Amino acid sequence: MPPLDNRLAVYTGTFDPIHLGHLDIIRRGSRTFDRLVVGVGTNPDKAPFFSPDERVALAEAVVRDFPNVSVRGFDGLAVRFVRELGAGVMLRGLRTTSDMETEFAMSLMNLALDPDIETVFMMAREEYSHVSSSLLRQVATFGGDLGQFLPPPARKALLERVRQRQGERA
Ligand code: ADP
Repeated sequence: MPPLDNRLAVYTGTFDPIHLGHLDIIRRGSRTFDRLVVGVGTNPDKAPFFSPDERVALAEAVVRDFPNVSVRGFDGLAVRFVRELGAGVMLRGLRTTSDMETEFAMSLMNLALDPDIETVFMMAREEYSHVSSSLLRQVATFGGDLGQFLPPPARKALLERVRQRQGERA
């Protein structure tokens, strides 16, 4: 098997939608590694607000300013996707101690699945440590203003999606 590139990292997640906490990890990851790929995956346990194509398009719209960052969608196992790209590092963000428990289990599983791929964690910045896509979707559904947590394209898309879903239910 060809050697993996440890200067290439893949930041995997659902990004439903991408928010400023994610973007902060992307900014810091882009400074730490030569190249960073944002891997937009599907989580079978989550019913997403946005389709895979929409989540990729939103991520692409907000990483435009980072020349060494690109966005790719993927299905299935994250470690398989990381290997297909030839990357040696999977990048993840950590917000809370509860994140730590699930991320710890996931990183050990990934290490068992592919021992050549290392998971690297970055701690969330304090102002985003309580921000999650699911909380933002919930707050948006009840009409809360999310300008301080979402980049403009994601804010616009989330407001439109909430309106659309509420219209469908009415
Ligand atoms: P997943 O569905 O895999 O949990 P998410 O899209 O929720 O993916 O998040 C992708 C990655 O970004 C995960 O490693 C998650 O811990 C991290 N992350 C999520 N929110 C934040 C935040 N506010 N600050 C830093 N990292 C975050």
